[in-house]
Amino acid sequence: MNVLLLGSGGREHALAWKLAQSPSLSRLYASPGNPGIAEEAECVALDVNDHMSVARFAHEKDVALVVVGPEAPLVDGLADSLRDEGIAVFGPSKAAARLEGSKGFTKDLCARAEIPTAGYVRSAALDEARTALAKFAPPFVLKADGLAAGKGVVIADDIDAAEIALADMFGGQFGEAGAEVVIEEFMEGEEASFFALTDGTFILPFGSAQDHKRVGEGDAGPNTGGMGAYSPAPVLTRELQTRVMEEIIRPTVETMAADGNPYVGVLYAGLMLTEAGPKLIEYNCRFGDPECQVLMMRLRGDLAAIMLACARGELKGVRADFAPETALTVVMAAKGYPGTPEKGGPIDLRDAESDGAKVFHAGTAQKAGALIANGGRVLNVTASGASVTEAQTRAYEAVDRVSFPTGFCRRDIGWREIERERQ
Ligand code: ATP
Repeated sequence: MNVLLLGSGGREHALAWKLAQSPSLSRLYASPGNPGIAEEAECVALDVNDHMSVARFAHEKDVALVVVGPEAPLVDGLADSLRDEGIAVFGPSKAAARLEGSKGFTKDLCARAEIPTAGYVRSAALDEARTALAKFAPPFVLKADGLAAGKGVVIADDIDAAEIALADMFGGQFGEAGAEVVIEEFMEGEEASFFALTDGTFILPFGSAQDHKRVGEGDAGPNTGGMGAYSPAPVLTRELQTRVMEEIIRPTVETMAADGNPYVGVLYAGLMLTEAGPKLIEYNCRFGDPECQVLMMRLRGDLAAIMLACARGELKGVRADFAPETALTVVMAAKGYPGTPEKGGPIDLRDAESDGAKVFHAGTAQKAGALIANGGRVLNVTASGASVTEAQTRAYEAVDRVSFPTGFCRRDIGWREIERERQ
């Protein structure tokens, strides 16, 4: 089959790499892609905001499946437009993508389906939100309802900081995304990610991971899109994964279907492992970046066939096998990130991929035949090992084979688990 993959990040490079290995794949197209994706796919320029132009391309090239990498086109209804044109899509409809696109929508669904999550109040007016703060204890968790590129959450230590954050949100800091705000109870625990594919009815567990959101070692400094990840996450034991499936994922999928909004694609649950058990922090309607990179490193089997089965409602009986080894990825970012990253710095990957390591491209570009940095997060250097400790050693050996003078990375990806492995 021919497949069209939409997106341009490290997540999409990992998907392209795995799709290209799929026995069922004939041709892989990607848009817009990046220099790494271009090694696996034919990159084409398409405007994802012009849904009909994407559909026309898919028809012209006999594309059997469109895989949508990022969330924005899904929240915008691209999957609906393509399905209306008879094209199979891996990714949820606009109505189902509200699980990521509206935090209030998800909280209400959790309340109805009795899914464990933090207590909350939704509010669409500043005065009302300020009054609602009295129902919570510090630290206050304040969230813009809509998509805010991972920046729409403020954890305020005291009431003054919370009031300022609320005023900013209603004042337009996050545009339309902040027209409504969710205030949540603060949950204590360790965070982990759990992934499941669903065709709307059947659910295929698709692995666990832990990422590292903060820019600095020891999880210090400002939040980023993610500085590294590893999979599996041993903290999410088999028993906890069963609980997540039964208490969180299954009731979500069933409620969405019962409401007439079947969810198709990957459901990515951000979890807090609290003393009372796993609780949902948030849903994402696409793979995590960089969690996808470590999942793809471990996945065995035909990704294109699995995704097509998911898109066609034929997931029953489909298996997904993952290598038992740990995969670990280190994000190399351009200096300045997550502020203003330095662009144009030269990159040389000549020896980086020896010894089984894989370098996924995120913000790279080609200039006069040379590879340069062209974004905040630039490379995802990924390796496997029998333990998190071994995977980390191999990943940093590969990092040290990368020449990227204007780049930096954290040197402690996997530290929580490595501390546990030492005990
Ligand atoms: P992402 O970048 O993951 O898309 P987001 O902006 O959609 O983030 P959330 O995942 O809901 O927002 O929250 C971001 C982070 O804030 C979480 O990873 C977690 O560390 C923290 N957080 C969110 N909600 C809570 C809560 N109720 N209690 C404690 N911490 C929380």
